[in-house]
Amino acid sequence: MTTAVAAKTKLKRMEPRMTTDPMLPEPYRVRQVVKETADTFTLTLEPSSGAGASRFRPGQFSMLWVFGVGELPISISGDPAESDRLVYTVRSVGQATEALVSREVSEEVGVRGPFGTGWPVEKAEGCDVLVIAGGIGLAPLRPVIYEVLRNREKYGRLVILYGARSPRDVLYRKELTAWARQRDTQVLTTVDYGGISWRGHVGVVTTLFKQARFQTARSLAYACGPEIMMRFVARDLETRGLARENIYLSMERNMKCAVGFCGHCQYGPHFICKDGPIFSYDQMRPLLEKYEL
Ligand SMILES: Cc1cc2nc3c(=O)[nH]c(=O)nc-3n(C[C@H](O)[C@H](O)[C@H](O)COP(=O)(O)OP(=O)(O)OC[C@H]3O[C@@H](n4cnc5c(N)ncnc54)[C@H](O)[C@@H]3O)c2cc1C
Repeated sequence: MTTAVAAKTKLKRMEPRMTTDPMLPEPYRVRQVVKETADTFTLTLEPSSGAGASRFRPGQFSMLWVFGVGELPISISGDPAESDRLVYTVRSVGQATEALVSREVSEEVGVRGPFGTGWPVEKAEGCDVLVIAGGIGLAPLRPVIYEVLRNREKYGRLVILYGARSPRDVLYRKELTAWARQRDTQVLTTVDYGGISWRGHVGVVTTLFKQARFQTARSLAYACGPEIMMRFVARDLETRGLARENIYLSMERNMKCAVGFCGHCQYGPHFICKDGPIFSYDQMRPLLEKYEL
């Protein structure tokens, strides 16, 4: 193959695939499945057509359809710069997620999207970036970490605070270690229950704030995890001086259509699927105070 033809072929592969109908799933093939913990797996999918994968912004999600089982929203956990694949980290909690993590290499999955708002990473330029995650909440935040590390000169310190239930539930172990070695980057991990061999921190993620080094007046915070965790994280950050509009949270509600038609994911005046899943604390605070929503 001549260089020109090879370049053309490569370009064609990298062209983003444009979905004309957001309700129509596109077939993707499983390229790799990696076991992260006992119940959580990372799946790499590539378009069955051989075209480039859909482009996405950090924080966006797809609707993944396991044919014959069901469709479910899953955040994209891969690197936005990798245009030939989409990566998802899935915790098996029920029928659809179990079917998804049981897919084998070369089996097909339907993909709709990407949908939703992303983390406003560009807003953090010139500022310290706080990534605060609980459990599987690290998955939708991983693309932010990739973006910041790739464009290191644009941002101040990167502080990653991560809480898991137990040492066995810690996701992306090798990457957490690698990120901690990057310049101006601090990674702090805590668990709810340590066990006898755990030498690290024990406690909820907010207990890590004491050790975290960032300039409150020039920081943006991105948080994802159980709602109760985000409520406390946001309150603590505000108490420490972060402006509400500089704290972003990723909200989760069951959804069906992902395009604002079905109303399943309505949260106060918002549809999580199209107005979210990422909202500023400024927008979410009045709703987060209402536990029953
Ligand atoms: C925008 C968005 C992004 C998401 N990203 C991820 C991700 O990256 N990785 C991942 O593992 N999961 C993610 N989820 C959650 C995932 O969609 C649900 O776990 C999945 O739909 C459960 O389907 P199931 O059939 O396996 O379980 P079901 O049988 O439907 O439910 C099993 C249990 O999980 C609870 N549950 C179901 N859906 C949700 C939900 N949306 N929020 C809270 N509890 C729920 C049910 O109440 C039940 O207790 C995301 C959800 C949303 C809305």
